[in-house]
Amino acid sequence: MSKMNPKEWASQVIVQEEIDKYLVGGKDFIDEDEIFQKLSENESPSPDRIRAILKKSLSIKRLDPDETAALLNVKDPDLITEMEETALAVKRKVYDNRIVFFAPLYCSNLCVNSCLYCGFRKDNSKEKRRTLSMDEIRRETEHVIDEGHKRMIVVYGEHPLSDADYMAESIKAVYSVQRKSKNGNGDGRIRRVNINAAPMRTSDLKKLAEIGIGTYQVFQETYHKDTYSRIHPEGPKSDYRWRLYALHRAMDAGIDDLAIGALFGLYDWKFEVMGLLYHTMDLERQFGIGPHTISFPRLTEAIGSDLSTNSKYIVSDEEFKRIVTVLRLSVPYTGLIVTAREKPGIKKEVIKLGCTQTDASTNIDIGGYSETVKEETADTQQFTLGETRSLDEVIGEVADMGMISSFCTAGYRCGRTGDKIMNLLTECVEGKFCKLNAILTFKEYLEDYASEKTRLVGEKLIQKEMEEVRQIPFFKQHNLVEKLEEYYERISNGERDLYL
Ligand code: SAM
Ligand code: SF4
Repeated sequence: MSKMNPKEWASQVIVQEEIDKYLVGGKDFIDEDEIFQKLSENESPSPDRIRAILKKSLSIKRLDPDETAALLNVKDPDLITEMEETALAVKRKVYDNRIVFFAPLYCSNLCVNSCLYCGFRKDNSKEKRRTLSMDEIRRETEHVIDEGHKRMIVVYGEHPLSDADYMAESIKAVYSVQRKSKNGNGDGRIRRVNINAAPMRTSDLKKLAEIGIGTYQVFQETYHKDTYSRIHPEGPKSDYRWRLYALHRAMDAGIDDLAIGALFGLYDWKFEVMGLLYHTMDLERQFGIGPHTISFPRLTEAIGSDLSTNSKYIVSDEEFKRIVTVLRLSVPYTGLIVTAREKPGIKKEVIKLGCTQTDASTNIDIGGYSETVKEETADTQQFTLGETRSLDEVIGEVADMGMISSFCTAGYRCGRTGDKIMNLLTECVEGKFCKLNAILTFKEYLEDYASEKTRLVGEKLIQKEMEEVRQIPFFKQHNLVEKLEEYYERISNGERDLYL
């Protein structure tokens, strides 16, 4: 961590050359006039055109801006139902019936920025400020592991006390924790640490790449430039392009799993979906691979933020469903993340539209997993959660929906990341490996952490999945059925962390 004065530190964050090198003819990839034009030119698409677009999406090809704009503008309820059904079919083709679980860990709420929607913003006097020590991070991690999690996303404010060196240390602290489960069996560890942190310079990103982070996630918040400037009045975050190219720099620094997102509710939702698409296209153009995941958090109430409750762009549930449907169809290979900002009912609905990842047993209070914090005194939170159910409860519900919960991190550890995973996802091969690893990690979870009720539903689902695997020629041809059965037995007998 840096001992520098926060104001001085903040003034040195941005390196202009690390923005300029990505511009084309001095321009960035968000051309607002072009986005508005695409949306108006595709205002009333015919059903035939929409069906042709759905067919393209089903062949796992990324859609172009005209096609995406057309999907955003469909009004006919029957056609919308067809889009939703196709979205789920696309998900099943690439990711099968899996959902991956993770837990967030909020390490620090000190921040040099003043984002008008966020409880952490520097001049919010209602927020109690705190940065976790490494011992506290290890304690928090123990609690997360004891729930049964294997993946974590660590979240930081932007501040000299939580700079890249602090991040590197905190990630090492998370990886260092090992726990036995209650039955004494488990190999309880966080196997993959992702981060959500402010844009950094390439030299800092290289430090994180060396530690071995999973995905680096930065949300643009809004792609609309005037809105962006208005709601980010000061600090490094006020520079739109520094943020726009955060993930381009990460790629150059050797981090090849990138996650983009927009905070829905700050500006027109159709414009933001187009922004996410243009971001995807520029990453594909400059590096040959798109984002590993896309997030679409909706603005929720934050203590001390008027904007969080009275924005005129608040997104309804129906619009939210359309956002998920269109993103699923437009970027078929990408993971889609729905978080605990959403209430259980709508979360379940969008999972059915093709989300691939979600969090559970979430606590976003700094130190909130290991310390007892009551809801009404939770004054170190960034925003309000819509979902606070335990991992076990959510897994039980998802299993009832016929979906298998995955804690798989094998792709990352076998080098199936970046362009390698993109090709596999596009060819739907990664999905096949993940199906097997999902079964194995789900089995581990059921053995070590599940309640009796969840174990019964989960075990039944696993048996159904194994039967399906036995029937699929790909698995037979590659002798994977025997391997799966062998690993399943070994896990039943207490071995852990077996993957294909
Ligand atoms: N400080 C880092 C940054 O700004 O990139 C970390 C981000 S913040 C801790 C994680 C994300 O939470 C933000 O990028 C933003 O999209 C989201 N967020 C902030 N305020 C929110 C609110 N009121 N409701 C929902 N999400 C919010
Ligand atoms: Fe700070 Fe991030 Fe919150 Fe903005 S969104 S105030 S940068 S923590």
